[in-house]
Amino acid sequence: MTQELQAELHQGVLVRFFGGFYVAADADGQEYTLRCPKKFRHQRLSPLVGDAVRFTPGQGEEEGWLVEILPRKTECIRPPVANVTLLLVSICPSPEPDLLLVDRLLARAKKQGMKTALIVGKYDLDGGKLLAQMQEEYRGADCPVLGVSARNKEGLDSVRALMRGADCCCLAGQSGVGKSTLLNALLDLQLETGEISEKIQRGKNPTRYAQLLIHDGIRVLDTAGFSLLETEKGMEPEKLQELYPEFQPYIGQCRFQPCLHDREPGCAVTQAVQAGEIDGNRVARYRELLADVRLAWKNRYQ
Ligand code: GDP
Ligand code: ZN
Repeated sequence: MTQELQAELHQGVLVRFFGGFYVAADADGQEYTLRCPKKFRHQRLSPLVGDAVRFTPGQGEEEGWLVEILPRKTECIRPPVANVTLLLVSICPSPEPDLLLVDRLLARAKKQGMKTALIVGKYDLDGGKLLAQMQEEYRGADCPVLGVSARNKEGLDSVRALMRGADCCCLAGQSGVGKSTLLNALLDLQLETGEISEKIQRGKNPTRYAQLLIHDGIRVLDTAGFSLLETEKGMEPEKLQELYPEFQPYIGQCRFQPCLHDREPGCAVTQAVQAGEIDGNRVARYRELLADVRLAWKNRYQ
């Protein structure tokens, strides 16, 4: 490509599809409608929401052209999106958290190369009790635990700072935990409450396309992130422990090798729990997930 053409190229991120076109937003939030050249199809390259792209803007009413898709950091199939590098798993005091589900989501996200954070919402409801408990359980899990109250507008800045560090992020969690309320508070979109919650709802239909919302340096999907994550199907049971950062100092220290840290004698992870170095509830849930992974592995050819 000639130098002049390179210089004319804009850089941005694809935020949504629109009637056969792609919409990219540049760093200033300015949007451009783009066409996709046929050569992309020939190369079986389909642009995804979340892709970092270079493009030529159109003149006046005319659409511009996508020129290049930059290498992807992550890729999800349902909905098809690229570069989700942070999954925020949301829980709250009521409805009561399902921590086995939380750990499942955290493990899946890590397996797909995403960073994770645990958001303890509605902390106005219990005076921060659940937050303190989670900070204890997820110590060493390479998963920051942040408390927020969307209602009282507390804790929002720390969550925003975390989100700004990601290419694209996504909220996941049971319904009713306050994801839509939080997203509205985070993005200052109180005027569009209905619209956002509708979009979040729409995330329950995994066949629809997601959109990226951009606000003040934050790029977040308008869809709830359950379906983004692949299941553990086809995962070797020995691999699960790799998704638990707090286990890593003890790997290789167990009496039997390989060790699944289930109930083997002389297990260094069990000893670390007894010594109070790793949280026992986290390990108990790891063992539940391990049982699922083992079963799925056993039945992998069925
Ligand atoms: P979603 O299903 O995860 O999107 O949850 P919603 O955003 O619809 O919130 C579920 C309920 O929790 C609503 O009734 C909200 O008003 C309430 N809620 C959300 N955030 C807070 C909060 O910070 N504090 C309290 N007390 N309630 C909240
Ligand atoms: Zn072990």
